[in-house]
Amino acid sequence: ETQIERHEYDVVVIGAGGAGLRAAIEARARGKRTAIISKSLFGKAHTVMAEGGCAAAMGNVNSNDNWMVHYRDTMRGGKFLNNWRMAELHAKEAPDRVWELETYGALFDRTKDGKISQRNFGGHTYPRLAHVGDRTGLEMIRTLQQKIVSLQQEDYIATGDYESNIRVFHECTITELFKADGRIAGAFAYYRSTGQFVRFDAPAVVLATGGVGKSYQVTSNSWEYTGDGHALALRAGATLINMEFLQFHPTGMVWPPSVKGILVTESVRGDGGILKNSEGKRFMFDYVPDVFKDQYATTPEEGDRWYTDADNNRRPPELLPRDEVARAINSEVKAGRGSPHGGVFLDIASRLSPEEIQKRLPSMYHQFKELADVDITKEPMEVGPTCHYVMGGVEVDPDTAMSVVPGLFSAGECSGGMHGSNRLGGNSLSDLLVFGRRAGAGASEYVDALGGTRPAVLVDDVVEAEKRALLPFSSATEGGENPFVVHQELQKTMNDLVGIIRKEDEMELALKALQDIAVRTRTVSVEGERIFNPGWHLALDLRNMLLVSLCVAKAALERQESRGGHTRDDYPVMDSDWRHVLLVLSALGEDNVDLVRKEQVPMRPELFDLFELDELKKYYTGEELGGHRAGSA
Ligand code: FAD
Repeated sequence: ETQIERHEYDVVVIGAGGAGLRAAIEARARGKRTAIISKSLFGKAHTVMAEGGCAAAMGNVNSNDNWMVHYRDTMRGGKFLNNWRMAELHAKEAPDRVWELETYGALFDRTKDGKISQRNFGGHTYPRLAHVGDRTGLEMIRTLQQKIVSLQQEDYIATGDYESNIRVFHECTITELFKADGRIAGAFAYYRSTGQFVRFDAPAVVLATGGVGKSYQVTSNSWEYTGDGHALALRAGATLINMEFLQFHPTGMVWPPSVKGILVTESVRGDGGILKNSEGKRFMFDYVPDVFKDQYATTPEEGDRWYTDADNNRRPPELLPRDEVARAINSEVKAGRGSPHGGVFLDIASRLSPEEIQKRLPSMYHQFKELADVDITKEPMEVGPTCHYVMGGVEVDPDTAMSVVPGLFSAGECSGGMHGSNRLGGNSLSDLLVFGRRAGAGASEYVDALGGTRPAVLVDDVVEAEKRALLPFSSATEGGENPFVVHQELQKTMNDLVGIIRKEDEMELALKALQDIAVRTRTVSVEGERIFNPGWHLALDLRNMLLVSLCVAKAALERQESRGGHTRDDYPVMDSDWRHVLLVLSALGEDNVDLVRKEQVPMRPELFDLFELDELKKYYTGEELGGHRAGSA
């Protein structure tokens, strides 16, 4: 055993995206010594890539908006499978969290009368996304970082040490969590640049590691999103829910191949962009499902009027929830009406002036100019579905964000429940703030309740963690495969067999393939040194991606219906008997997972009564409707 760098904290937050930073700020504000660990450079989390905005029912642009309307939209978007308590907390608290960001120094775009401006987005009844052009995530991360620096400056005045209460460890990847007596005791990591190991002793850990997109070939996610938090939680004995629900964003770039999957923000459609097929037809009007018929325009004229007069017209179908739009694009391409490179056309050029486009969508303008040599003020974009967001994640208590493992918390994209079967655009940035804060508070209260006693990390566990991390270098795996090859195979398997449209026989094939990939993952071998070795890093990530992929495939095979981000070719309709069923996954050893069904807790009566009975009938069984205010009538 080598001497390992060691740190002690009250709360260790894994992840420096919006959720992690907001959690850390809260823990520090509650007097906890807090570490923030980030696999990438500080400031390079996914949150920074968020373009469209942050959903919060502030009612600045349309005063009819309020938390109840936001709550209803969120539940509809998730097809009523959401954890309703999370959706309630989210809708109620999001406006305060956005305001609070401005007290940290954020500056959102303004309405003419100086209020925070809000933009339209799919599935939101009113303009609701607070934004900064199409670079909202950047402003959010910048502000949260600035807040952390200001807290460090306060600590410096008090203690003479900037890092006495809050410290950032960047380019540092957690590979294991430690437990003692059934509770969290700490975590184990390596520094990407040196390959040196480091151990954190802490009674509370907040997982805020983001998504899982790198298990798929075509994704908007960057290299970091390998489902580490999901896998760490599973291995620590926590459970995951909703893993069958992955959001394929309808509009990713499809050309050139090197940028395939990169996101084209929904703001393009929110600001008037329309989708057309190769015949020039605005096809979304053909794809409005029955459950949404009342809320969407039936003609292009009505849809266009909505942009200027939303109270007297219905919204255009381009702004249906993402799952609907992604499926529609998929169908058009399959029917032979796609664009030259296998997508459809997204046209903003004919809708806004070049000046407006450059002002409202500056990042998109540059992205297409630089990456595809397309001028979006003159030509349409070619777009198609890309794996974007995982609704599934760690099963947590809605109020405290604690998982079933004492001391293990989770917030942001890596936790599950809030978005049900499909997330509305803009509801992630608000989710990060609301539940990041709650996780930081929950972890602090947990630490307080422990009093002086803290679970001690077992030396054997540290030795084991070190051995496991070094396995790809050891003689035991000599001659094993290159992790890049195995990763590509995993991505292809998930893309082709557990992708946007799913079938039983294909998913069975996928599970078989994953078993084979599991064996190969266990024995991947890498060459060279521990100093900045991307092959080694990938070998360790692969273990997590595999476990997460098994969860997705197993849950997707089990759920025999189509709902939100889970579409079954063999069970094409939504089935009310499945609405209240959660699929709960736990780890069985290194690379196997167990699945059980669990009943969703019924919605609180006063929340249930926020919906009209006629709408609920589309989702609920007759028996469940008895509790509604109008149910007995
Ligand atoms: P992230 O911001 O993903 O941060 C995860 C952090 O965890 C990173 O710091 C990473 O380095 C760290 N990490 C991961 N694994 C480890 C490990 N093993 N050890 C240490 N650190 C680790 N949502 C919206 O609401 N509105 C939008 O407009 C919007 N636009 C988007 C545009 C793009 C291109 C993408 C990809 C997503 C967009 N989303 C949007 C979704 C949203 O950005 C993400 O869901 C959200 O930012 C996730 O935040 P997070 O804090 O949970 O995690």
